[in-house]
Amino acid sequence: MNHQSTLAIISELDHETRSEHLFTNKQVIDINHINAIKNVILNYLKLIFMPATGLPMTKNNDCYDNTGKPSLLTVKQTLELIKNNISSIRQTQKLSIRDALGYTLAEDVTSSINVPPYRNSAMDGYAINSKDLNGASEIQLKVIGSSFAGAPFSGKVSACECVRIMTGAMMPDDCDTVVMQEDAVRNEDSIRISAQHKADQNVRHAGEDIQQGAVVLSAGKQISPADLGLLSSIGVAEVVTARKPVVAFFSTGDELKSLGETLESGQIYDSNRYTLFGMLKKMDVEILDLGVIADNKALIKETLEQAAKQADLILTSGGASVGEADYVAEILQEIGQVNFWKIAMKPGKPLAFGHINNTPYFGLPGNPVSVMATCYIFVQPAIAYLKGLEQSSHLSLKAKCLNTLKKEPGRTDYQRGVLKQTENGELCVDTTGMQGSHILTSMSTANCFIVIPQHSADVEAGETVEVLPFNDIL
Ligand code: AMP
Ligand code: MG
Repeated sequence: MNHQSTLAIISELDHETRSEHLFTNKQVIDINHINAIKNVILNYLKLIFMPATGLPMTKNNDCYDNTGKPSLLTVKQTLELIKNNISSIRQTQKLSIRDALGYTLAEDVTSSINVPPYRNSAMDGYAINSKDLNGASEIQLKVIGSSFAGAPFSGKVSACECVRIMTGAMMPDDCDTVVMQEDAVRNEDSIRISAQHKADQNVRHAGEDIQQGAVVLSAGKQISPADLGLLSSIGVAEVVTARKPVVAFFSTGDELKSLGETLESGQIYDSNRYTLFGMLKKMDVEILDLGVIADNKALIKETLEQAAKQADLILTSGGASVGEADYVAEILQEIGQVNFWKIAMKPGKPLAFGHINNTPYFGLPGNPVSVMATCYIFVQPAIAYLKGLEQSSHLSLKAKCLNTLKKEPGRTDYQRGVLKQTENGELCVDTTGMQGSHILTSMSTANCFIVIPQHSADVEAGETVEVLPFNDIL
């Protein structure tokens, strides 16, 4: 194939698919450099078929409208694409249950015992036999012994006899009911009680909480403090967990300075690495902070390749939207299979997602609020997929909006709000004020996103809106 025909194929593919992914970046290829041409074609084909993950990246995924122009991907479509292109980490490890807190269970845990293991009392009182309750309005029973937690009564209990019993103590074999001590009148070695007590009252049965042989916790469950208690209650000291994902991230931009450095004119402090650090920390992953990487092609390439070797997920912020002076997009086209999506959300319209040497990659936007919003909406579920966690979606509530909110139809807005409850229990939401994607104070003040649907315009004060209360990663 001569050089001219190669380029003809490239431009034909471009025209035919109207791809926004690859060629709108106006990539310049050295026509004498056969490897560069090969890489462009290979990467392009990977973009279409994404063979590593089995998802064909077709026009449908790009969300073409009936005019043939690419339209914006919805958040739902984007989440679906991400889900289909991330597989969970297979390596497992056995951990003592304390160390396993926050990890994902990799195997079901089955109980070898009943919990409670034996019938016991739910109250301090007297264990009786309900047959003695027959007829009379009041009865008298002889107290013949006691059963304490850890020191059961092992004798026989005959008719008209009872046993003093404490909460959690084993029920004597011949008793089936507990009368709480407040309902009994004690007189030396006997008690008087009403005959109106119900058989079986105040008795906890063996296996009432957990049956022997039952699956107590299923694979995919994130181990919580309650689970530590549950595991110890069935005598399990160690569990098999999935390895925690390693997430590498770095910021790009010549204008960025790290803490401790002096700002020159035209420079800003890097904040994305710190918000990402905080969110990732709360997501309980191993963090690999690769710092600020200047807008230098070789450096960015080397860092991305290193990250792909070391991490299970790579995040970058800034410089990844097509058509910028930054290099990330250009490099990704050489070394990765990455899509440059435009998502119908605000903030966070540009998002790059794909793989670098089989390691999933997100190119988050540069603006600080966009980084946090896209991390919340897309990266958090992606990390849950990596961890093999059962999915839980963000809690969505309805609240009365207390302000007029400006909104252009076309994208779903994730405006920042403060959700509160009035004295009569009504949920109301206040805006945090300015909504620019650079206004990071809005994220700090907010406790929820106000979600305004894609095709809606302004919200009037008093209207009901959807809110997503921040979960524990924000
Ligand atoms: P970019 O996507 O690189 O064009 O960045 C978009 C905007 O976000 C610009 O105003 C950048 O200065 C800003 N920005 C990019 N990265 C960071 C960062 N790590 N911390 C704070 N602001 C950033
Ligand atoms: Mg930049």
